[in-house]
Amino acid sequence: MHPFEYQRADSPEAAVHALTGSHTVHGAKLIGGGTNLIDLMKDGVAQPSKLIDITQLELNTVEETKDGGVRVGALVRNSDMANHPLIRSRYPVLTQALLSGASPQLRNMATAGGNLMQRTRCYYFMDTAFPACNKRNPGSGCDAVKGINRIHAVLGVNPHADEKTVCIATHPSDMCVALAALGATVQVKGPKGVRSIPVREFHRLPGKTPELDTNLAADELITAIDLPRSNAAAHSHYTKVRDRQSYAFALVSVAAALEMDGQTIRSAQLALGGVAHKPWTSIEAERSLAGATAGPETFRKAAELMMAGATGYEHNTFKIELAKQSIVRTLVLASKGGAA
Ligand code: SF4
Repeated sequence: MHPFEYQRADSPEAAVHALTGSHTVHGAKLIGGGTNLIDLMKDGVAQPSKLIDITQLELNTVEETKDGGVRVGALVRNSDMANHPLIRSRYPVLTQALLSGASPQLRNMATAGGNLMQRTRCYYFMDTAFPACNKRNPGSGCDAVKGINRIHAVLGVNPHADEKTVCIATHPSDMCVALAALGATVQVKGPKGVRSIPVREFHRLPGKTPELDTNLAADELITAIDLPRSNAAAHSHYTKVRDRQSYAFALVSVAAALEMDGQTIRSAQLALGGVAHKPWTSIEAERSLAGATAGPETFRKAAELMMAGATGYEHNTFKIELAKQSIVRTLVLASKGGAA
């Protein structure tokens, strides 16, 4: 592991101040649970010059907000969030997603903010023995495009990317897929003050800068995640399709939250994991569901819209039909009262 400086922050302001000048590839990084960053440092994938320990900050509460939503502090552990009564009762799809991720030991350590910042598990990114990775080493190429790309993206890849910018990595989080479906917002603090970023805009597509996973500035601190009031608790579901029953990342995942009036769908929120560089959403798919009668035809139409434009590589074309069938299955279960 490369040597690094260690600093403990005793306030959000101090943490933001310590991040000053951290815009370089090897700039300072915040550390909370450390379940992803430490692995990356041990393997030489991440080489921050400084770690800023934020574990002492008071960002570890789950509270009801005045508008009927819930605010989750950035340092709330994944297992605590999943099992909190407010989350279990109002956002069961989020509980399902959280409990499908990692292992109990990891969930006990990993934080909400850290989960948002998880990095891809692309094999070539994670192993420095592979020289070409535009995310780890910008401009070096991408070993995944012509390599083993079974777990990689089928949506959102930049069609104009060249060898020096292409990246077909997928975003790995389960939590973020549920947050995208629920319309959550990330609260952040930076040198210029505070701002809110909708989860659907927090993660980004690779574009010409695949080294950047999110739209968070390098000197900003995540302070909380806000969940809006939801009427979909009774009709929501999270499906995760993976190679093993536990401790595996999603090949495809689907979060659905429906408001139902009998068999009529009043409104629908839908997000996919394992298929793109960010949790994937489609306004067209959600609009097609609103006002429609729940049923296979309605759900298949939404699935087709959700996967419009999907393109496979040598080993991952199976994901396109797998995702469509997973969307239909998830919507069937959600419409019947899935997550309860
Ligand atoms: Fe790197 Fe992205 Fe290619 Fe994986 S898919 S090797 S993360 S550039």
